[in-house]
Amino acid sequence: MSQLMPAAFFGHGNPMNALEHNRYTDAWSAFGASMPKPKAVLVVSAHWYVNITAVTAMKVPRTIHDFYGFPQQLFDVEYPAQGDPKTAQRILDVVKPTYVGLDEDSWGLDHGTWSVLVHMFPKADVPVLQLSINSELPFDYHFDLGTRLHALREEGVLILGSGNVVHNLRLIDWNLPGKGTDWAHRFDDDMRAIMTSDPSQLGSSNAHADYRLAAPTPDHFLPLAYIAGLSAQADVPTRTLIDGYEMGTLSMTSYELPAA
Ligand code: ZN
Repeated sequence: MSQLMPAAFFGHGNPMNALEHNRYTDAWSAFGASMPKPKAVLVVSAHWYVNITAVTAMKVPRTIHDFYGFPQQLFDVEYPAQGDPKTAQRILDVVKPTYVGLDEDSWGLDHGTWSVLVHMFPKADVPVLQLSINSELPFDYHFDLGTRLHALREEGVLILGSGNVVHNLRLIDWNLPGKGTDWAHRFDDDMRAIMTSDPSQLGSSNAHADYRLAAPTPDHFLPLAYIAGLSAQADVPTRTLIDGYEMGTLSMTSYELPAA
C-alpha cells in the first residue's frame, strides 16, 4: 500500500493568531514538523465561500488580507508560497465527474490559509493551493468531494480544512476569553464524538438542536466536511489535535487524520 499523507481540520479563530504564539499555534507548528515535506498543500478555507467550486491555479498566489479593523502589522503579513498549476490540473482529474474550475487570477491565499501556514510551514517552501467552498450546494456535496480528494493523499499532497466547528461572531462575548457557552460545548462535543468514531455521520449535524447557533452560516463548518469525507474514504476516524474555546462562541477544536 502506498504511503498516505496526513490531513487535518484547523480551527483558525482570530486572524491575530497569525502573529501570536499560543497553544493553538504551537500545535499547528508541531503538526507541520511531524511529517515529511509535502509536495503541495491544498487548503479548503472558510473564507473562500463563493457560488462555484474552483481551485487556485496561478504560479504565485497573492496574500489576501480579507478582514477589517486589525493592526497594520497583520496587513503587512505576506505568505510568499508558490502555487502549483500542475496539482490544480490533477485535482480536476481526480474529482471527475464533479466539476471544478481553474482560478487563474481571482483569488489567492486568504487568512484562513496563511494564518495557519505561517506557523505550520514558516519558510513558505511548500506550494499552496486553495479550493473554494461552493455556497450553493449542500453538505453531502462537500463530503463527497472530500472523498474524491483521497487520491491526492497518496501523491504527497497535504489536505487541510480551515474553519471553526462553532463560529458565531454575532454572539461573541469578549468577557469570555478561553471559554465557550454551554451550547457551544454541546455542539462541539457531539461533533467530536462523530469525528473520532465515524465521520461518515457528520451530515447529521444540521439536525442538531444547536446547529443554528453554532453555524448560523455554514462557511466555517463546511471545511470539516472535506476532512470527514477523506476520513470516511480511508476508513480511519480522525483524532483531536487540540481543542479549546474563545469568546464564548468560537470552538478552536482541530482534527488530524493520521498518516498511514
Ligand atoms: Zn475565519
